[in-house]
Amino acid sequence: MNSIIRVNTRSGKVEKSQVSAEEMRWGGRLLISKFLLREVPPTCDPLGRFNKLIIAPGLLGDTPVTTAGKFSFGGKSPLTHGVKESDVGGEAGAKIARLGIKALVLEDTPETLKTRILMVSAKETRLTDAPELKHKMVSETFQILRERFGPSVGIICIGPAGEMMMASACIAVTDAHDALVRAAARGGLGAVMGSKGIKAVVIDDLEAKPSPPFDAKLLQEANKEFAQMLLSDPKIGNRQRFGTSAIMMVANELGLLPTRNFSAGQFEKVEEISGETIAEKIDERKGEGKYGMPCTRGCVVRCSNVFPDPSGKKAVGTLQYENIALLGPNCDIGSLDEIAALNNLCNQVGVDAIETGATIGVAMEAKVIPFGDAEGAKDLIRQIGQGTYLGRILGQGVVVTGKVLGIRRIPAVKGQAIPGYDPRALKGNGVTYVTSAMGADHTAGNAFETAKSVNPLGIENQVESSKKLQVRAAILDTMGLCLFVRTPFGSKPELFSLFLKGRYGWDLTYADVQKIGLDVLETEREFNRRAGVSEEFYGIPEFMREEPLPPKNSVYDIPLEEMQRIWSVKLPASW
Ligand code: SF4
Repeated sequence: MNSIIRVNTRSGKVEKSQVSAEEMRWGGRLLISKFLLREVPPTCDPLGRFNKLIIAPGLLGDTPVTTAGKFSFGGKSPLTHGVKESDVGGEAGAKIARLGIKALVLEDTPETLKTRILMVSAKETRLTDAPELKHKMVSETFQILRERFGPSVGIICIGPAGEMMMASACIAVTDAHDALVRAAARGGLGAVMGSKGIKAVVIDDLEAKPSPPFDAKLLQEANKEFAQMLLSDPKIGNRQRFGTSAIMMVANELGLLPTRNFSAGQFEKVEEISGETIAEKIDERKGEGKYGMPCTRGCVVRCSNVFPDPSGKKAVGTLQYENIALLGPNCDIGSLDEIAALNNLCNQVGVDAIETGATIGVAMEAKVIPFGDAEGAKDLIRQIGQGTYLGRILGQGVVVTGKVLGIRRIPAVKGQAIPGYDPRALKGNGVTYVTSAMGADHTAGNAFETAKSVNPLGIENQVESSKKLQVRAAILDTMGLCLFVRTPFGSKPELFSLFLKGRYGWDLTYADVQKIGLDVLETEREFNRRAGVSEEFYGIPEFMREEPLPPKNSVYDIPLEEMQRIWSVKLPASW
């Protein structure tokens, strides 16, 4: 991967350049943070001419390392007004990497918004008009493009919410069999893509000539060992059968499951929506239902699923913990079938299901519809896709919706909805939500994984733990690896060194790799500082500092000064 392709969405001009020696060392989230700080005015309008949408595979994007097909989207977020990196699986990322493209940068905005496709192949990169795709739902867009371009292309697209530049809009991708809709969901980057007038990006790598790795044998052996370590993890069976919802019952037990707009941490109907129940229903209903699916080629963890309706037809692919938590308990909806339908509507309209679940929870508190009203919730999501006045308010996310409806209990940090872990019962996540440049993001340094070793209700060690988790996340996002492959690095962090030696011939210790993670965090923080969205201005919502969360009855009580200590915490050179 040694070229940068820049597409000016106003003039249509495409420029291809070779990467510098410094840029060669950047990938995924690191590349995005560096490009944004270097090229995007931090105070610019996220939907204006000066913001950029950057698409970047990770450093291992063109290798067979398990899950390395994950890739990153980045830009200034219309939701947080700070730096945003959002990564996703699917097929397109590995294809971009195979074409030797380190970054695809969409610049400027068209004078008048059009519906266009960006075609990228070994021969050319070009914009074409596609008015027939205007306001098409996500799966229909995939289907039309699949019929037009064939089975081997990778497809990225936005739904109507992105075209209408709604701040909760996501960017969707699909898997090798078009069974799943996966999303670079957080931060509203779908709106940035919409502001560039790009409905879809189609990647054709048939004539790609990927550059050979420095040492293919070393890379292959390291990957084999890595995959074996993942497969021998005792939790792998749970992940494959129950997906990310394997944690649902534990989250409920810990009292951190957002319920009725973050007014409780346990949900009465939790068993009906657990990972175990998902698997049982898939077994019972058969048909198109399936668990243990990879969202990106070569993933051995395979945490994705297709959840079937009672007749066995696909209701949604995939049903994950976060989306269930926010669209389910947070809206007092305890039926998997209803949650699956809501999740599918979010996918089709092209909005982040976390942001939307939180938004509907606030709308329910404001009595727009009652808690537990699944039909009403479906109508609200449809209205987002239709762009009604109410839909346009809801599509701007939980903060705008709360303000318009006069609700003060708004579960958001830095303008972005809090995901499926209430920080009053998992205080380490509160530290991450406040100090990470990403805002309230479950992938930025999730303390759920350390809930056994660090008391989730205590203050002690939360800052140290969050720092470690944030650095880990930044490293994985830079490599292009999924967060769910982190386990083996605990016992063998030098796997990173082997991967990078095998791919590039670089001699790096794990301490050097850790510096990459720290560099990401510092660069992102600097962008946010210049954008005026540093942590001192955006804390945990006030109601969470005052209102005890049942049943643990804890409030969020970590002072800002304690959280800011994170920047001086020194980490040992271990995973
Ligand atoms: S572990 Fe799950 S989310 Fe990660 S790449 Fe595999 S299927 Fe996708």
